[in-house]
Amino acid sequence: MLERIKDMVKSGKRFLITTHIDPDGDAIGSAFAMYWALETLGKSPLVYLKDQIPYNYEFLPQPKRVVYEIPDGEFDVIFVVDCGNLFRIGEGYEQLKDKGNIINIDHHTTNEPFGLINLIDENASSTAEILYRLLTLMNAPMTFEIAVNLYTAIFTDTGSFRYENTNSSAFLICEEMLRHGVEPFYVSKMVHENHPKERFLLLGLVLNTLETYDQGRIAIAHVTEEMFKKTNTTREHVDGFVEYIREIRGVEVAALVRETDNGKYKISMRSKGKVDVANVCTLFGGGGHKNAAGCNIDGTLEDVKTNIKEVVRFND
Ligand code: 5GP
Ligand code: MN
Repeated sequence: MLERIKDMVKSGKRFLITTHIDPDGDAIGSAFAMYWALETLGKSPLVYLKDQIPYNYEFLPQPKRVVYEIPDGEFDVIFVVDCGNLFRIGEGYEQLKDKGNIINIDHHTTNEPFGLINLIDENASSTAEILYRLLTLMNAPMTFEIAVNLYTAIFTDTGSFRYENTNSSAFLICEEMLRHGVEPFYVSKMVHENHPKERFLLLGLVLNTLETYDQGRIAIAHVTEEMFKKTNTTREHVDGFVEYIREIRGVEVAALVRETDNGKYKISMRSKGKVDVANVCTLFGGGGHKNAAGCNIDGTLEDVKTNIKEVVRFND
């Protein structure tokens, strides 16, 4: 499969790279690393993002060509990275299917094989890890631009090397990236210590909604449109909130319920026990990983919380 991708890259002229909505570090880092790798191979790829680059990833070496509308024309190859299903690319995703051969590179347990080629490894720490292997096979020269994007993707998707997906490859790749000029302290500062004050005012409001259930094994907090307005923040400021909730002693499943529209909610779920939250989120049409997953649920806030509580099973 890697050989086939190598050939398609070699012979291709027009490349598009895209990823999921609400992009995280692995989405942005993998998409940008792919861009820089193709550039070093003499190609001029285009990157399509549905959403803006989150402020804490703006420091990354950015592609020369990023578009926010699905581009016209056809492509020889469309790389879709870190995306469990095509729907996750966001509105208009259907158009992409007719625009070229899709290569799906991903590590979600719930990945649907929507590409012509599907390079999926559920055991990889991150999409960036799979990409690193691909780039090595393609003999793409390693540059600082690629290295810092790959490093940041792995660093963020492993929760700064803390989550269950942290493996020896993650450390080995990151060590190599340091030799290409990546400074861990700088990346960490830009990603984690670069928030506007407003984010913490929002966090205060969100933490005030925290409730626990099932003898403290489930914790749920929520964020409303009203809170965003009050603190002059947007959904990008919520990134990381659910991780704080998981830090509570005894909590095995943490959920952050975010209002997206009247009666519509986006759920971010985390597990630090045996519960597979990807399974839980799949019941609502979402997906993800065992310990980090998401879905959308409609209803009242109370309905949504009841729904979550009802489907989480501890099996012990
Ligand atoms: P987050 O809570 O940080 O938005 O997402 C956690 C993980 O679940 C990520 O790997 C993300 O890609 C995945 N995820 C979040 N929401 C959805 C969804 O609606 N559908 C699917 N398939 N995956 C999701
Ligand atoms: Mn990922």
